[in-house]
Amino acid sequence: MSIAENLQRLQNQIHDACARAGRDSSGVSLMAVSKVHPVELLLEAHAAGQRLFGENRVQEFAEKFPSVAHLQDARFHLIGPLQNNKTTPAAQLFHAIDTVDSLKTAQRLSSAAAALNKTLPILLEIKLSPEDTKHGLDPAELPALLDAISPLPNITVVGLMTIPPYTASPEEAETARPYFQHLRRLRDENQRLHPALTELSIGMSNDFLVAIEEGSTTVRVGNALFGKRPSRPTP
Ligand SMILES: *Cc1c(COP(=O)(O)O)cnc(C)c1O
Repeated sequence: MSIAENLQRLQNQIHDACARAGRDSSGVSLMAVSKVHPVELLLEAHAAGQRLFGENRVQEFAEKFPSVAHLQDARFHLIGPLQNNKTTPAAQLFHAIDTVDSLKTAQRLSSAAAALNKTLPILLEIKLSPEDTKHGLDPAELPALLDAISPLPNITVVGLMTIPPYTASPEEAETARPYFQHLRRLRDENQRLHPALTELSIGMSNDFLVAIEEGSTTVRVGNALFGKRPSRPTP
C-alpha cells in the first residue's frame, strides 16, 4: 500500500468514525507521525496532501528540517519529551510543543519563543497510568499548572495530550478508552477557567477510532500510515 492510499483509507476511517459518533469530521485532525522514518516518506505524505506532522525527537527533526523547510503549509509538532537543553531549537523548529509537563519547561519555552518573536501553542501531557517510564503531569497538579502558565506571554496552552498504556493491536483498543475519557473530563473541568483549552490529542494507530468516539481532536498515527517503523540506529 502506498502512503497516498493509506492516507485515503485513514481519512475515510476518521470520517466514518465521526459520522457514527455524530461529530463533524472537520473537528478531527490526522497527525502523521514520521519519527524514525526517512524524510523522503514525510515528503511523500506531504505530496499526497498531508499537512500536520509529529516528530518525537528534537535532534532527529533538526536533521530532517533542511529537507522540509520549504514546505510552507506544513505544520510540525513535537510529540516526544523535551529536554531542558533542547528548548531553544525546539521553539525554533516546531510550530507547537505537545508534551509540556512542568512549569520549568513552560517558562523556558516562553523565553525561547519570546527571543524568536513568536507565540507557541502548547499541549500539556498528562500521565494517567503509573508506568514509571512515562513522562507527563500528575492530573492532580493540572489546575495549579494551568494557573501558573497563564501569565507566561509567549506560550498558550491549547489542550491536553496523553499516551495510554501500549496496545499491541486494534483488538486491544478498548483498554485505552478509560484513559481517553479521563483526559476529556480533565479538559472539560478546566475549560471554564481556561477557555483556550480545547484540544484533545488522543489516539494512535491501534486505538484512534475509540479516541474519536471519546472526543479526540487530533489522532497521532504512525504505523498505520507509514508502515512499521525501522528500529532506531544505535548511536
Ligand atoms: C510514535 C508515536 C505515535 C504513533 O504511534 P503508532 O502506533 O505508530 O501510530 C503517537 N504518539 C506518540 C507520542 C508517539 O511517540
